[in-house]
Amino acid sequence: MDLSHLHPDSAAVHAGRQDLRSLGVHALPIDLSSTNPLPDIERGGDSYESMALGGHPLEDGGAVYARLWNPTVARFESALAGLEHAEAAVAFGSGMAAMTAAVLATSAPTGRRHVVAVRPLYGGTDHLLASGLLGVEATFCEEDEVAAAVRPDTAMVVVETPANPTLRLVDIAAVVAQAGSVPVLVDNTFATPMLQNPIDHGAAMSLHSATKYLGGHGDVIAGVIACSEDTAQALRRVRAVTGGLLHPLGAYLLHRGLATLPLRVRAQQATAVDVAAWLRTHPAVAHVHYPSADDPRGLVGTQLRGTGAMISMTLHGGYDAAAQVTSGVELFTHAVSLGGVDSLVQHPAALTHRPVAPEARPSASLVRLSIGLEHAEDLIADLDQALAGGRTRAPSTARAADLTPVG
Ligand SMILES: *Cc1c(COP(=O)(O)O)cnc(C)c1O
Repeated sequence: MDLSHLHPDSAAVHAGRQDLRSLGVHALPIDLSSTNPLPDIERGGDSYESMALGGHPLEDGGAVYARLWNPTVARFESALAGLEHAEAAVAFGSGMAAMTAAVLATSAPTGRRHVVAVRPLYGGTDHLLASGLLGVEATFCEEDEVAAAVRPDTAMVVVETPANPTLRLVDIAAVVAQAGSVPVLVDNTFATPMLQNPIDHGAAMSLHSATKYLGGHGDVIAGVIACSEDTAQALRRVRAVTGGLLHPLGAYLLHRGLATLPLRVRAQQATAVDVAAWLRTHPAVAHVHYPSADDPRGLVGTQLRGTGAMISMTLHGGYDAAAQVTSGVELFTHAVSLGGVDSLVQHPAALTHRPVAPEARPSASLVRLSIGLEHAEDLIADLDQALAGGRTRAPSTARAADLTPVG
């Protein structure tokens, strides 16, 4: 069934389920086989070779071994590809495994050992690229410096929009134009396919930490990249060889969660709009980072169809006020990660962005909120009492200076 004519709400419910009727089932089946019976040596071997090079299993040769192919994972991938307006998608055991595969797939076979990255990025991504662990050198730059940063040996350009944790928006089409023939990877984790489709703006890859909104319930670690079938082949080859695959139980949970993704994003976003508006009026809050507030290029409503449910705020009280809020909340959970049905709060400079170079690390007075499905009034009441506690303490920046980068 072609889903392209459907409203995204309907596509999210039906995506990747086209083969279920022929299987005689209604719910998504889970195939846990680590290995599969081989028809004979020749056909099994041919299928193995096809998949080891990043291709599909051959029809008469079977899936051979689950590191190469799993039907439950493939079904989730086809669903996500549909929602991202992409030909294909490749799922991994985490968002970082997906990012690693993207770097390896674009650099190793081409001999290009350079990546251009626009900051801010998720701290783990920044760390991976800056560390050189994958044998690739990174140039970090501003959005309008991409053209100048690209070299003949540049394998890929990496951007994140809305960016973690400042919610800064990057004009994808403008970066793609600057990158020329170099593939652009957009980390689309914060927007989800419901609010933004980077492939439509010329990106070669749209990456998700599926751990976040796609899973949506805080019980799966996963990553996925939507892309062309050619790029998918290169990514699957890396996945088959390096083994960064997604377990079928995780794929099942992700696929199940896609059906409610549009509803969750819409409800969480509506609440986030209310919470952000309330925070703007609070005397302890110096600045509220939310896409509608930081949009000089007018990307909200065009590239980004909504403002999402992530909010960051900087506090007049600095690090101490941030510490007070994170330990004072009761309904919010003080925890890293985001995008789930329950609200989380965390301090990026100390945690998710700790490995980032000091000059690029988020402010010590910045706190990040992931708004869940609770009612806005309850979330506001919780933040109100936590912020009130924060204002009773004297501002200090002493502890912020103590934060040492990791590795
Ligand atoms: C969490 C996150 C990642 C890393 O994903 P994992 O699933 O934790 O490996 C990458 N990018 C963004 C924007 C994230 O929030």
